[in-house]
Amino acid sequence: MNTDRLEVESISKSFAHANSTINILQDVQFSANPGETVAIIGPSGSGKSTLLNILGLLEKPNSGSVKLGESELQELSQKEQEMFRAQHIGFVFQNHHLLPQLTALENVLLPTLVNTNIQVEANEILDFVGLKERKDFYPWQISGGECQRIAIARGIMSASKLLLCDEPTGNLDEENGQKIIGLLKEIAAKNKVVVVMVTHNVAYAKQFDTCYVLRSGRLVNEGV
Ligand code: ADP
Ligand code: MG
Repeated sequence: MNTDRLEVESISKSFAHANSTINILQDVQFSANPGETVAIIGPSGSGKSTLLNILGLLEKPNSGSVKLGESELQELSQKEQEMFRAQHIGFVFQNHHLLPQLTALENVLLPTLVNTNIQVEANEILDFVGLKERKDFYPWQISGGECQRIAIARGIMSASKLLLCDEPTGNLDEENGQKIIGLLKEIAAKNKVVVVMVTHNVAYAKQFDTCYVLRSGRLVNEGV
């Protein structure tokens, strides 16, 4: 069971555009205990995906640190970061990104190709997201909401410490969106992983333990 706390300290990030530099994140700071759910809301272009990508080691910050338990993620080598990500971090995106030529079960098993140490039982996770009976179906044979639940199952496979969700309900109706929120809260409590979700939907964000707003590059938790 995970006991690692997430500590994000003074993350800053800028991008070079043509002949200027645009500061996207400035001194972003927050922390979360194992099992805690964190929602981040903010207008389009405010840097939400950039922040998630930094937490998931897909993007490097200009400065600042991300710590999970005793591991200082920015100090790991590229190879170590890749291993850490494969072993401990799961992603869920707005579009489910399931491979159409693979069944639900095969899609969920994908992370085990990258990391053969994964000990999680794919069938159990499919049962957890309520889709065990769909395991041999292909993505095009099941609904959008079900595909997103398969994507969550796949994310959970590699999320032993941290599950990062970028607008996971963006393509779903209210009923299916609510199901996803319920599953994310349940998995955080059950596996004691930190769940960080970026969303446009304030009603969903408010159901998480903590809700921050990303505004002008800074993370604040007032006015939510
Ligand atoms: P959000 O997810 O909140 O909509 P993003 O994090 O995707 O925002 O993007 C924030 C800003 O950073 C946008 O203006 C975007 O154009 C810019 N940006 C994101 N990634 C890059 C990149 N790799 N290179 C240059 N600019 C980028
Ligand atoms: Mg985004």
